[in-house]
Parts: sequence; C-alpha cells; structure tokens
Amino acid sequence: GTKWGKVREILTEVEKKCATPVARLRQVADAMAVEMHAGLASDGGSKLKMLLSYVDNLPTGDENGVFYALDLGGTNFRVLRVLLGGKEGRVAKQEYEEVSIPPHLMLGGSNELFDFIAAALARFVETEGDEFRIPEGRQRELGFTFSFPVKQLSLASGTLIKWTKGFCIEDTVGQDVVVELTKAMERQGLNMRVTALVNDTVGTLAGGRYEDNDVLVAVILGTGTNAAYVERANAIPKWHGLLPKSGDMVINMEWGNFKSSLLPITEYDEALDFESLNPGEQIYEKLISGMYLGEIVRRILLRMAQESSLFGEVVPQKLEIPFILRTPHMSAMHHDSSPDLKIVANKLKDILGIHSTSLKTRRLIVSICDIVAKRGARLAAAGIYGILKKLGRDTLSSPKQRTVVAMDGGLYEHYSIFSECLNNTLNDLLGEEVAGTVVIKLANDGSGVGAALLAASHSQYL
Ligand code: ADP
Ligand code: MG
Repeated sequence: GTKWGKVREILTEVEKKCATPVARLRQVADAMAVEMHAGLASDGGSKLKMLLSYVDNLPTGDENGVFYALDLGGTNFRVLRVLLGGKEGRVAKQEYEEVSIPPHLMLGGSNELFDFIAAALARFVETEGDEFRIPEGRQRELGFTFSFPVKQLSLASGTLIKWTKGFCIEDTVGQDVVVELTKAMERQGLNMRVTALVNDTVGTLAGGRYEDNDVLVAVILGTGTNAAYVERANAIPKWHGLLPKSGDMVINMEWGNFKSSLLPITEYDEALDFESLNPGEQIYEKLISGMYLGEIVRRILLRMAQESSLFGEVVPQKLEIPFILRTPHMSAMHHDSSPDLKIVANKLKDILGIHSTSLKTRRLIVSICDIVAKRGARLAAAGIYGILKKLGRDTLSSPKQRTVVAMDGGLYEHYSIFSECLNNTLNDLLGEEVAGTVVIKLANDGSGVGAALLAASHSQYL
C-alpha cells in the first residue's frame, strides 16, 4: 500500500525548501537591484545582461499609418498589422494570425525556422484588405518582436546571444536575426523592411505606454519570463554612445537568467536544470515560468511514486516522461473547486494514465501545485519589487507618482491563483500606502502592437 509517512516526509521537505518568507523576498529584491547595477556597469558584469534596446523614445500617440509586426518568442508566433490613426484614431484597426511552430523547427537549422516564419508572413500579407493599403512606392515596414537575448547593435539590428525556452538552433547564435529574417523574406519574394527589432518586454513596455503614460516597467510571465524598464541613460555606465535627447533608454533585463544563493532551490529544480537544454542558465526562469512549473510538479510526484508507491506498486510509465505535465494542466488541477476534485482525477487519468486515485491523493497533488506555483509567484513579485527599488518607486514621493507595470504572458493571464499571489505579495512588500500607487496592468498581447508602434515611430518615411 501507500506509505503515507514517507509521502508526508517528502512533502514537508519540499515545503521547507520552497519557503519564501517576506524577509527572504526582500533579500532577493535587494540582490536583483544589486545585479541590475552591476549589469549596467559593464558587459559581463552580472548574470543580468541589462541589454540596451536602443529605444530611447516610447510611443507618444501620434503614430500614423499601416505597420506590420511579427512576434516570435515561444511555442507560437503571431503576425499582425495595425492601422494607426494618430491621437484621434489610435489603433483604428488591427488584424492578426497565430501560427504554432512545429517542434522540429525549434531544434533544426536557422534557415528552416526563418523560412517557415517568412512564408507565414507572406501568406498573411496576401490577405491585406483595402483599408490596410500602403501608399504607392512605399515598402511595408515591420516591427520584429524577438524574445530571446540579443545584443542589439542599433534599433534594427542585433545578434543572438543564446536561445532559451526550448529552442536550440546552433547556426543562429551570433548571427544578426534581422539579416536572417530579411534574407528569408527575400527568398519568399516579400518586399518588407524590418525597422525595429525589439524584445517582447520592450514591445510590451511600448504598447503599455501608448495606453497609459505611467508605464515604466514591463514584465512577461508566459512560457519564459523577463522584464524591461525605462532607465536614465546617464545611469548606464557601460553606454559610451551619445546621450539620447530624451535622456532615457529602455533596458531589457533578461531577468530570467538571475541567479542567487538566496533563491529557494530544491533537488527537483537542480535535476530539471541539469537535464535541460541550457544547464546552469535561466535559473530564475526555471523557478517561475510556464514552461517549467508543471515539470517541477511532475518531478515531485515521480519521486513520491518511486519512494512511497503513491500511485500503486508500479510507477506510472507516463509520469517518467519529461514535460508531459504542462503548466495549463497543473493550473486546471490547482483551480479545481469540485468537492471530490474531479478535474484532478481526470487530468491524472488523461495525461498520466493514472486511474482511480483517492481523494487524499488528489488533495496532496493540489497542495504540491500550490507550493510550486506560489514559490514562483512570490519570487516574481520580489523581482518586480527589486526593479521598483532601483527606480526609487518603492517609497512615497510628493507629489504622489503613479507607477504602472505592464504585464503580459499566458501564465499571468490564465493562472489566477498565481497572479493573485503575485499581486498580494507585491502589496505586502510595498506596504499598504505605496501599494496604492503601483498598478500591475494586464497588457494583453501588447508586445506585437508595441513593436508595430516602434516600427511606426522609426519609419524610414518620417
Ligand atoms: P509565449 O510566452 O510563448 O509568448 P504566452 O504569453 O501565450 O506565449 O504564454 C504561453 C504560456 O503560458 C504557456 O507556455 C503556458 O506555460 C502558460 N499558460 C497558458 N495557459 C495557461 C493556463 N491556463 N494556466 C497556466 N499557464 C498557462
Ligand atoms: Mg509572448
């Protein structure tokens, strides 16, 4: 039978190792702020790359015309076009299409991936209606949202530093991804110019600012996690170029690569990291983001199955398959409010082939989801708090300044226990009064529109 004593022992251990008391979160936030300073001081000075985006002006609302955007960053990519009508017209019209990336292209050759993307883009352009017509003799312009670490050389060029989130295509690393995309578009016979290359965090920041003037920070919590914010250019020692007129520079933190001995890491996290495509890297991301949360839960369950026959004498075969338990499944189980936890039972059956579980077992599974999700949400809150500290927005100012964090990503959007926990934790860290001046705003798919807006404000025809 089940050795519940052993199960409890493992659970207690996991609980203890995953604990994130407020005092610890404050230390994590301070460590984040310290790393931010170090990353701004010199290239390679920190685990945080603190990448210059070359975006020194965010959208004003005056943007006008038809622009395209392409958003590549996870399991899907999206192509969209917007008709911008200035202060009055705003985003007058918007169309998009979402295409999922065949898994083999995430591990193949660079040309294959970019050809696939350019072909989808070309098909999308074919469906352009009259209201989106480009004036005679003009080239279509595109904002390219590319959500991997890029060393930007200008607003419209940048070389790939490394892949993350399950992509691994060696021949792209070190290449200018704008050149790669442009060549692929040419192979498709598509006449389009990339006028802005932006990270999704930077796109979200731009889209967020267009909607709300108080947006200073953008955070992504989706397949992966990252953040960007508006820094004063004279607070970036590693920037040796001319100071931009605005005095500002958007920084793509690449915070997913944050690492600190203060992070609560378990043996399950260590094993996950060791067996990942990028061992030793993206440690913060592996604790927080949608690609990994379900996988951590699977690893804990597997251990319980192996050491205490949680699911019977034989370890369920499917439970041994990496990444079979995805975060949306975890979230569905975690939110199960039926008295007998029917959804948990069904997920176990459908995904893991585990039949007839006791209510006690289902409850145990929900509590494991709770531990893993809340650790992630609380660590994400600590990261945001760290940015607010760096910006001096963690205290009250007079006159009272409002600070808005534009948030995007399927994890935050759909996993409500996660997002509620994040919000509550951030409020705890800020304290009631300051918490009243900080808002997290869901900027649903703002990164694509944001990239189109940046393409518009940097159009070759201005
Ligand atoms: P991406 O990050 O790939 O650009 P999204 O922002 O749409 O795309 O995020 C997708 C990710 O969000 C998924 O990989 C998954 O981890 C997470 N996610 C999607 N739906 C849910 C859900 N219902 N519950 C929890 N997480 C979800
Ligand atoms: Mg995305």
